[in-house]
Formats: sequence, C-alpha cells, structure tokens
Amino acid sequence: MLVFDSSGAALRKASEIIKRGGLAAFPTETVYGLGVDAFNTAALARVFEAKNRPHFDPLIIHIASYRSLDRVVLLSALGPDRRALVKKCAAAFWPGPLTLVLPKQPAVPELATAGLSTVAVRCPAHLAALKLIRLCGEKGLPGALAAPSANPFGSLSPTRAEHVIEKLGDKIDCIVDGGPCSVGVESTVLDLCSGEIAVLRPGGITREQLEDVIGPAGSGLRGGPPAVGQITSPGMLKSHYAPQAPLFCHSGEEMAALTRRDDEAYLFFSGKNRRFSGEAVLVLSETGSALEAAANLFEYLHRLDGMRPARIHAEILPEEGIGAAVNDRLRRAGALTAENAD
Ligand code: AMP
Ligand code: MG
Repeated sequence: MLVFDSSGAALRKASEIIKRGGLAAFPTETVYGLGVDAFNTAALARVFEAKNRPHFDPLIIHIASYRSLDRVVLLSALGPDRRALVKKCAAAFWPGPLTLVLPKQPAVPELATAGLSTVAVRCPAHLAALKLIRLCGEKGLPGALAAPSANPFGSLSPTRAEHVIEKLGDKIDCIVDGGPCSVGVESTVLDLCSGEIAVLRPGGITREQLEDVIGPAGSGLRGGPPAVGQITSPGMLKSHYAPQAPLFCHSGEEMAALTRRDDEAYLFFSGKNRRFSGEAVLVLSETGSALEAAANLFEYLHRLDGMRPARIHAEILPEEGIGAAVNDRLRRAGALTAENAD
C-alpha cells in the first residue's frame, strides 16, 4: 500500500490507481472514504470484499460539483417540485456532509446501489477529495467515486489515516493522508425519492439546518432502528460503528455518579460531569461544544478501544444539532451490548 500526501502530484498518482481499478482511501470532512471508480464493477466488488461489507449495503457516490450530478442521477425521474428541492439542498449544503438519495442513472452499476433503483450521492467539502474526484474524470465525463467509510464493516469509522492503515492497510492500494477529518461523523442521508422526504441517517448537517432550508422532514428511523434484513438504508442498522469493547451509554448524571474502575474506560461529553481523571478517561469537548465532540468522537473511541478495556462508558450529548448524530453513533456502538444485556 502506498501512502501519499495531498499534493497535486500525489493526488494524480492516486487518481491513476483509481482509474486502473484500484482502491484508494482518501480524506473527506466527515471520515476517510475508500474510493473506487463508481462505474468499475470489479473495483466495486473489491470494496465489498476489503470491508467485508454485505452486498445489501449500498455505497455513497462522491462527485466534485452539482454539475456532475447527471452522471449518476436521473433527475428527470423526479417531479418538478422535488427537482427544485435537490437544487436547493445542493445550493445550501454542497460541498458538505449531506448525502441525497435520488433516482439512479441506469449506467450506475447495481453493485454500487445494492440493486436499488436509487443512488446516494454527495459532494464532499474537502479540497483533496474534490481534486481527486476531478482527476478521476475521463473522456470528458466528470469523475464519480463510490466511497464507503474506510473501515471494516460495522466497526468504528476512521477519522485519521492511521486508523485506515491499521485496519485496512493490507487490503487497499493507496491512501491519501490529509490529516484528521474536521467534522468527524458521517454525512446526513436525506431521502428525496420516497413519498415522504426523510432523514435516513443523522449526520454532519443537522436536522435544524436542513429544515430551515426544506421545511419539515420525516424520520426514516420511525419505530426504532431496523434489524438486518429489513433495511432500506443500512446506515440505519441497529448495531454499527462499534468498538471491540462493550459500550454503555449514560446520561450526564449517571456518568457523574460512576465509580472509576481500573479496567474500564470513560468517554465524557464535557468537563461538567467528569469526577475523575486518568489515561482511560477522555473528554470529547472540555467546554461542551457538540461540534468539537463530533470531530473527536471516533478518534477518542479508537484510542479508548485500543487500551482493551473491559467496558467503555460513554456520555450521551444533549439531543440537538450535531449532538443527535453523535448520540446516534454512540447508541449504535452500544447496541450489541444493550442487546446482550436484554
Ligand atoms: P457509509 O458509506 O459506510 O457511510 O454508508 C453509506 C450509507 O448510505 C449506507 O449505509 C446507507 O445507509 C446509505 N445509502 C446509500 N445508498 C442508499 C440508497 N440508495 N438508499 C438509501 N440509503 C442509502
Ligand atoms: Mg460506514
């Protein structure tokens, strides 16, 4: 596996690897992605294999601008109101952590969309990612990279190149190291195809930000997270984003009342409820900033998990803004633990 920096020359080399059907991990503002040419089925198959990702879990296609949307999305399959909404969302949030689920162009391989008639697409707000996608364009066609998060399926998402190298280094062709990801949680997934517009996965763009622009949106999560086999959007899987240690979610008061044990690890939201300190005691944001907490979330979970604790205790954030996305990841990280305790 080759490790590149994010200089123009290095990105060109990474794009050549992708154009030849290779797997290139690259930074985005959310988490590191594992990118392949969205139209190369052999490369797509390698992504599923490298991540051990089930084939029912569709990939997000990354494009470099709204103008490239036509390559993957069949906008004419939408009515004029929805088409206007797509434009509005893109104008407000692209480049940025918002993924839109839209009707797919027939040319997009079924493997990328898990056989669905829809495709998930976004334009990342990261200079190196945008340059890399552009460099992957060919024959007058804009580049389009299918890129799931660059981690083994179901485990913690990578927010640094080291996370990718450790977990997938032997399975990929190269990585572009662009330093830590600024947002730190995955994109918000918004379904603009179904009868009701719905947030399928909370993420980097908050529900409040979205609703300011498009009005009220439903929740694909009604009735609680579905089990494997009943899903329309696997980012909704009950257990996901999980560390190896069992993880328990707690309110702030519960965290403040915990007694410290040497074999356990603790992830506080802010300094407010922390009653003890130590190597295995981390605070997502000393001042209680949800944005800072999101940016640190996976990095700190990786760190604590690496200490091989018997348990990780994590404090839930106030359920507002990007705190909702952080809580979603924490609850899914703890879902198997909760299930085993049932
Ligand atoms: P990841 O790239 O690992 O962050 O996961 C991508 C997520 O996007 C999937 O797990 C799904 O939840 C969602 N997704 C991708 N394509 C579709 C689609 N066509 N319809 C609904 N959700 C999708
Ligand atoms: Mg993922």
